[in-house]
Amino acid sequence: MTGEITPDVAIRLKKLTKTYGSGNGTVTAVKSTTLDIFKNEFFTLLGPSGCGKTTLLRLIGGFEYPTTGTILLDGQDIAEVPPFRRPINTVFQNYALFPHMTVAENIGFGLRMLKRPRDEIAARVDEMLKLVRLENLSGRRTGQISGGQQQRVALARALASEPKVLLLDESLSALDYKLRKEMQMELKSLQAATGITFIFVTHDQEEALTMSDRVAVLSSGEIMQIGSPHEVYNRPANRFVANFVGETNFLQGRGLNPDARGTMIDLQGIGAVAIPTKDTVAPGALVHIVVRPEHLRIFPLSHEPASQLTGSVKMVSFCGPETQYTVELSNGSGLLLVRKYNTPDENPSIAIGDDVSVRFTPNTAQVLPG
Ligand code: ATP
Repeated sequence: MTGEITPDVAIRLKKLTKTYGSGNGTVTAVKSTTLDIFKNEFFTLLGPSGCGKTTLLRLIGGFEYPTTGTILLDGQDIAEVPPFRRPINTVFQNYALFPHMTVAENIGFGLRMLKRPRDEIAARVDEMLKLVRLENLSGRRTGQISGGQQQRVALARALASEPKVLLLDESLSALDYKLRKEMQMELKSLQAATGITFIFVTHDQEEALTMSDRVAVLSSGEIMQIGSPHEVYNRPANRFVANFVGETNFLQGRGLNPDARGTMIDLQGIGAVAIPTKDTVAPGALVHIVVRPEHLRIFPLSHEPASQLTGSVKMVSFCGPETQYTVELSNGSGLLLVRKYNTPDENPSIAIGDDVSVRFTPNTAQVLPG
């Protein structure tokens, strides 16, 4: 990534750092971040509150100045370019619409600031109204439309001047669950239809997995992993990512001498199991095995020995398509979350207090250092 910039890179961040305050009160919001975001990509910055997502977005938008490091747009350093001159627009969390203006006036605002000809503005506003399906509301003031409609106006306004990059800061968090789901799909199809690079900020891992081409998972100002939703979910780089993206069980184990089956782990409560991994695990080394709840199978207690744990059920939660069981392990190593998909004709056969066995399939698990 340090070499020549390739034409498919829209934004390159090079060792970007942002600190606030001084002396003992210094906060490092972004720590030496290096990252390429591609053209026509739906890229998401995902992380818990305070991890530096908004600061990164504000640096790209030009609302903050980097402490050190550079930001390249199409290969050009944009440090000295003020926000309104960058071909980068932002959709803010609160939409920041002008309530006294109509929907159409709001959408055309940026183009009027750019002093584009009237005809061109009118045509572009019409195009944008169609794109976000608000033709019927073009004359309505934005103080008199719903939250979802305001969201669409904010999007149309940000897209009207054809930016190269669109920044979206927690854009869907104010919407109720159903509308948020709808807007997720709409945002995704808007990105595909316009070909503009979208950089989306969220703390909601499900939202990030659903919408993104790639996700950067952040913690305390640092990138923990960059990958496709599939990669960050199924191949988390470390315990932070495994824990933050989706629900996870961590089983403890120690390395054994490898045999013909591959890497062998002495797994607490199960014994020796072969787990496929690229990394070598030294005999005796402590490891954590990441097991997703949907990769475990739960049964009434039986005595089959193969790859199974035993415990008693502490909680059963029916969640519509699936049921979640919290199982307290009999080996004293804590709680295990198991997820089972429901079928309509099925009566729950496992209840709170039941003794159960939980079958574990080694090839769906992943080994992380202890
Ligand atoms: P949230 O999801 O809560 O918005 P975030 O991941 O977007 O959080 P940032 O807002 O980027 O995180 O903040 C990163 C860190 O920088 C936090 O510790 C925050 O308190 C600090 N910070 C952000 N802005 C400032 C500022 N203007 N002055 C001082 N500290 C700041």
